[in-house]
Amino acid sequence: MSRVLILGGGLAGLSCAAFLADAGINTKLLEASPKLGGRAYSFQDSKTGDTIDNGQHIMMGCYDSTLELIETIGASDKIDIQEYLRVVFIDRKGVEHKLEASSSFYPLNLSKAILRYSALSIKKRFRVLDLFLDLVCIEADDLIDTKVLQWLKNEHQDDAAISALWEILAIGTLNSDIKKASAAVFVNILKKIFFAGNEATKIIIPNVGLSELFNVPASKFIEQNNGQILLSKRVTGIEMEENSIKRVNTTNETYNDFDFVVSALPLYSVEKLAGFPEFEEIAKEMSYSPILSVHIWLKENNFNERFYGIIDSPVHWLFNHDKYITIVTSAADKFVTTPDEEIIESFSRELSNVFPVFSRDLILSYKIIREKRATFIPTAESIKARQNFRLKFENFLLCGDWTEAFLPATIETAVLSGKKAAEYILEQNL
Ligand SMILES: Cc1cc2nc3c(=O)[nH]c(=O)nc-3n(C[C@H](O)[C@H](O)[C@H](O)COP(=O)(O)OP(=O)(O)OC[C@H]3O[C@@H](n4cnc5c(N)ncnc54)[C@H](O)[C@@H]3O)c2cc1C
Repeated sequence: MSRVLILGGGLAGLSCAAFLADAGINTKLLEASPKLGGRAYSFQDSKTGDTIDNGQHIMMGCYDSTLELIETIGASDKIDIQEYLRVVFIDRKGVEHKLEASSSFYPLNLSKAILRYSALSIKKRFRVLDLFLDLVCIEADDLIDTKVLQWLKNEHQDDAAISALWEILAIGTLNSDIKKASAAVFVNILKKIFFAGNEATKIIIPNVGLSELFNVPASKFIEQNNGQILLSKRVTGIEMEENSIKRVNTTNETYNDFDFVVSALPLYSVEKLAGFPEFEEIAKEMSYSPILSVHIWLKENNFNERFYGIIDSPVHWLFNHDKYITIVTSAADKFVTTPDEEIIESFSRELSNVFPVFSRDLILSYKIIREKRATFIPTAESIKARQNFRLKFENFLLCGDWTEAFLPATIETAVLSGKKAAEYILEQNL
């Protein structure tokens, strides 16, 4: 029976460890930080005492591996799954436009949802529907060198359709400027969401903090199944001999009691550890995109919906947590160095223009979180660099959200990659 050393306790590492633990494989996980979850975690806000996430995370019904992980670790009651796809978009005049597919008669319900989407003229809704239907025949691989914006224009989508629908979908799924991201990844993700049945289109929102959803139950599950989780263990070096990894060093210890090492580290970490020239090649092609999350506590919360998409605005999404709201801006480069006060003033102006229930003087308290390297940008260059990437070491596997060339950096990509690493190891044990 294999002994597996996993490096990194983000969702990819936890996924690998949990699926291996479920199969009775002995795992040891080393995590540099004193907490698990990597880029997906929650913490207690010092002013209000409320538990908040480092950034709002949503999932989709097409997150098959994530849903499997959630079930495996016994956390299925910690998520809310929509009955059917329903998103309320709001334009800058404050008018609501619903994208709503009742649960019956898939995929007719999706066509109806598009044809009823009032943010676009009737003619434009038909053009959008045309492109959705064409997606069946479009091969993502053929679009590596085409940027999302260019692809949409090639497919006869005009500026209004792009800003009222496509851009919100693209920026939400890719966290990238549509002038930079490759259409291959966007098409791939659209197909996963819209062409895999009704369930896949539903939006899933955690009803607890991210740590309570993933990190606490995963670590409990792993430890109950003879896995070991070691926090505050920063890996400082990986030593190789001939064709395999022999030793993994942390600041104080050396580990050599393993049959497999699984790296679940971000590329920028693993690149430094081993001196593999292959990683340097990829790292040259990777660039990152920030996410800005603003948690706001209000004297009175009169928002009706659980969340809103906002059209043509620097604020992309508003999530309503009752006690507080969270507003999210993806691809938020221009806000990374903006002072908190400026952000809160300009976002308050924006929100009060759009929502009659919001005004600046309702704000009791706020917390702004800038995740500078929230996700990588899926450019053509980064896809090509990762597409044919192979390491020659037999006992060394890679997972993490950057390891799947045709998928964006998401929870599902991280969990899927961890599951694949676990499956590979299980196959070797047959
Ligand atoms: C603000 C924000 C919002 C997001 N929103 C969404 C969303 O709505 N939906 C969605 O699907 N995805 C979302 N994502 C993306 C998602 O969070 C990530 O894709 C996913 O969590 C990545 O997991 P990972 O395990 O691959 O990497 P990471 O989470 O980066 O985990 C890597 C781990 O390795 C550890 N590590 C690094 N170096 C070392 C070392 N030397 N030794 C030991 N350990 C080390 C790190 O501490 C970390 O715990 C969001 C991300 C952010 C930041």
